[in-house]
Parts: sequence; C-alpha cells; structure tokens
Amino acid sequence: MRRSRSADLRQGPPSRSPDDPTRGSYTGDVSTPVGVLALQGNVPEHLDALRACGADARPVRRPSELAEVAGLVLPGGESTTLSKLLEAVELLEPLRERLRAGMPAFGSCAGMILLAREAVDARPDQHQLGALDVTVRRNAFGRQVESFEADLAVTDVHGGPVRAVFIRAPWVESVGRGVEVLARVPGSVRGPASGKVVAVRQGAVMATAFHPEQTGDARLHDLFLQRVRALGLASAPSPG
Ligand code: GLN
Repeated sequence: MRRSRSADLRQGPPSRSPDDPTRGSYTGDVSTPVGVLALQGNVPEHLDALRACGADARPVRRPSELAEVAGLVLPGGESTTLSKLLEAVELLEPLRERLRAGMPAFGSCAGMILLAREAVDARPDQHQLGALDVTVRRNAFGRQVESFEADLAVTDVHGGPVRAVFIRAPWVESVGRGVEVLARVPGSVRGPASGKVVAVRQGAVMATAFHPEQTGDARLHDLFLQRVRALGLASAPSPG
C-alpha cells in the first residue's frame, strides 16, 4: 500500500553520504552560528540540513537568540500564525531590524510569504517583513491542492534538478527590480502553475515556495550558507 503524503513528509530527510552531490559543499567556516526560526514548522529538518552542510545551526525563539546568529531560515508553516507568534514573542521588530541591516535569510513556503513585501489572499492584519520586493499569492496552487511535486532547475544549484515539494504553497506573482528569479515551475507542467516563479533572491535574502528541507537535498541550504559566509567574510573587521 502506498504511504500517504503526510506520512512520507514526517520522515524527514534521508541521510546523505559525504560524496553525494546533493549533500552540500559548504565547508562550515562561519564562526558565527546560523538560526532557524523555531516558532512553528519543520524546524528540526532545517537544522539537520544546515548541519549536514557543516554549519553551527540553532533554533531561534527569542530576541537574544536572534542577536547571536549570522543568518536565519524561516520555515514553512502557516504565515498567519507565524506572523502572530513573531509579534507575541517580540521578534517581529528585531527581525525587521536585522533584515534591514542586511542579515542573510532563507524563507521556505510560509517563510517566503512573510519575507515578501506583499501577500495576496493574506489576512489584512498579517505582518509582512518586506525583505523581498515581491508579491506572493498564498495557497496559489489551489486550496484543494494539498501538495504538488516537480523537478526544477535552480540558478546556482549544480548537479541536476531539485525535487521540489510544494505544500499549500504560494507562488510569486510579480518581482521588483533587483529580484533574481532562481526557479520557475517547468513549462511541461500544465495548468495555471506552469512557468510560475517559485524561487527568488534579492541581495542576501532568498526564498522558495517549496520545502527543500523535506527531501534530504541540502543544496539550497548550502546556497544560503555560501551567502552567509560571503557576507560574514566581507564584514569581518580588518586585522590591525
Ligand atoms: N499555506 C500556508 C500559508 O499561507 C503556507 C504553507 C506552508 O508553509 N507549507 O502560510
């Protein structure tokens, strides 16, 4: 009997051997830790993926923990709930502040929605972090579409396509100048999702409409960590 999708998804990523190209090439030489926003969603899976790339990854639940990390992953979940929780634990303004100051961030699904400047079909009181100059549409694949999978070519991700798992996912309706499109739903997929933008990057901030933590392929986490490392080195105090 085929297992249900939700049972599959609960399993978390399979472990990867060191020479597996999807394992990630990040060498872990960022001395400052990176964080995973740990209010809701697949927090352990994101921590595992970052650690598989060699990073010192920790959960972030309060402002003092945010202050200690050099970059932050915002997991999927429910953007309305995450927005409320961010406010309740007094992380909303400190997070906005860090993002304004250039902290690298990587949002997946609901994380992408929160990072966007604007979300269509969101509750009017939902907070937007505004770190990506994009408009996203919540539940864009259709409310009845629980999940959808596709193989995507992703800019700067080498070694073959990325298996993308979409779960009640948004897509990006429009991008501002300065936003790089990293991936689209392939044209071979029929229907309204065909060709839609599902991964973007703007400066230090990237986001995917899908869940890279679900597949054991750490290449997107690795891409995020490369940006953390590049910015960390660039901003390191010069000796003397
Ligand atoms: N549909 C959810 C939202 O609007 C996102 C789903 C997810 O993160 N898997 O926030």
